Amino acid sequence: MSKINIKPYYDVVVIGAGMGGLTATAMLSKAGYSVAVVDAANQAGGYLAGFHRNKFRFDTAIHWLNQCNAGGIIHTVFETIGTDYPKAISQKRIKRFIGDEHSYLLTDNPDELKIELQQKISTRERRH
Ligand SMILES: Cc1cc2nc3c(=O)[nH]c(=O)nc-3n(C[C@H](O)[C@H](O)[C@H](O)COP(=O)(O)OP(=O)(O)OC[C@H]3O[C@@H](n4cnc5c(N)ncnc54)[C@H](O)[C@@H]3O)c2cc1C
Repeated sequence: MSKINIKPYYDVVVIGAGMGGLTATAMLSKAGYSVAVVDAANQAGGYLAGFHRNKFRFDTAIHWLNQCNAGGIIHTVFETIGTDYPKAISQKRIKRFIGDEHSYLLTDNPDELKIELQQKISTRERRH
């Protein structure tokens, strides 16, 4: 393991190297501050890092990310930090929820699902 060169002074010390802490650290560094990030765990990533139990590896997160298109918060953060980030493909149809009595499609326009749910719920209430 390479030796860590700890400075006697930092402008900012970020506690926690999860996605929030790492993002804050990267953005503050980009803005010219000297930043140290510390974590109680022996690896960075927080919830993103996953964990081992017995002989199994558990990938805890992330399964999907919103706001990756231009103007979205993820895109804006990546653009602020640098340009060498993975580019996302825009998705119209995101996820379908299927149950015994329902089948809902979440699209890139959550208002569509909201209207559909409102209509279904009011129809169900009229029946009861
Ligand atoms: C099963 C699962 C699935 C998920 N799926 C998605 C998804 O699909 N899409 C999505 O956007 N989000 C998802 N999330 C949520 C996402 O993973 C979290 O919101 C995000 O990773 C949280 O980041 P964080 O930096 O806020 O916190 P954390 O990841 O919890 O990081 C906090 C860090 O702080 C450290 N720490 C805590 N206390 C101290 C201390 N006193 N001193 C030093 N260090 C400390 C911890 O060790 C940790 O590394 C999922 C979460 C889970 C659990």
